[in-house]
Amino acid sequence: MLILDGKAVAQKMKSIIAVRALEFAKQVGRKPGLGVIIVGEDPASHVYVKNKEMACQAVHFHSIRLQLPSSTTKEELLQAIQKMNQNELVDAFLVQMPLPPHLSSEIILDAIDPLKDADGLHPINMGYLWVNRQRVAPCTPWGVIKILDHYQIPIKGQSCVVVGRSQIVGRPMAHLLTMADGTVTLCHSRTPNLREKTRQADIIVVAAGQRHLLGSDDFKKGATIIDVGIHGSGQGKGVTGDVRFSELEGHVAAATPVPGGVGPMTIACLLENTLILAQHNKNIIIN
Ligand code: NAD
Repeated sequence: MLILDGKAVAQKMKSIIAVRALEFAKQVGRKPGLGVIIVGEDPASHVYVKNKEMACQAVHFHSIRLQLPSSTTKEELLQAIQKMNQNELVDAFLVQMPLPPHLSSEIILDAIDPLKDADGLHPINMGYLWVNRQRVAPCTPWGVIKILDHYQIPIKGQSCVVVGRSQIVGRPMAHLLTMADGTVTLCHSRTPNLREKTRQADIIVVAAGQRHLLGSDDFKKGATIIDVGIHGSGQGKGVTGDVRFSELEGHVAAATPVPGGVGPMTIACLLENTLILAQHNKNIIIN
């Protein structure tokens, strides 16, 4: 079984981004900037934000963090978003999810300037994606496309199943696979006979958020398995996915591990989105 090493592919992407960031700095007079707004004290979110800041440092970006207490009101958060929208040093930013329950992620997402939307989740950017005029794509599904592309796993003409229909992973994933000429079935928690669907697929992307939901019996021999799920502390040790990885050897052709598969690709794509928007907003082209 070929292990699809997301860490290595992400590292390769980051090396290219780092070179481009230096060129950006030469032309603009400052580094590309990624902003993060974090509300509250969710420990996993703090780990994710720290990882993003470290990734920024490694590719010569600067990072700007706005830390707000969990008691932050909707108006205060909207003000913080406006600050980021107007900050000349911030080329793109994101609001770390999940938010405390009194804050609606939809209202927050709508307030982000679509030209500074690092996550690619603003409805305008989603709309562009849907009409096949991609500006920035949601990082996780775009990372999956990149990893398949890196390992030259064909999508064209293949039967693909996506498990999970969330706005950030499943639905854009199904769309991106469709645009890459795959024949896609999108499954979710109300899909009867899930195994019947996954067993006929060549490529299965699992993003159900259910630890160890699927194993070798759910896949046909020779399939490619992409496990998006993350369960655990987010710090590496004890982290597992939606797939029972240990069962796959000798049965499937290729699979992403957890950790070290889709996770690192998501961060690399976040950096790539930031650089795309930075170049677009400054009207410069770096090859
Ligand atoms: P979500 O909870 O928003 O959506 C889960 C989807 O899975 C839903 O559409 C639901 O219908 C479906 N589902 C749930 N149980 C199912 C079942 N038994 N059978 C079939 N479908 C089922 O989750 P999400 O935000 O899309 O995240 C999914 C997983 O991916 C989580 O573990 C999350 O932590 C992880 N994630 C990882 C990354 C990364 O960078 N690797 C990024 C985002 C999310």
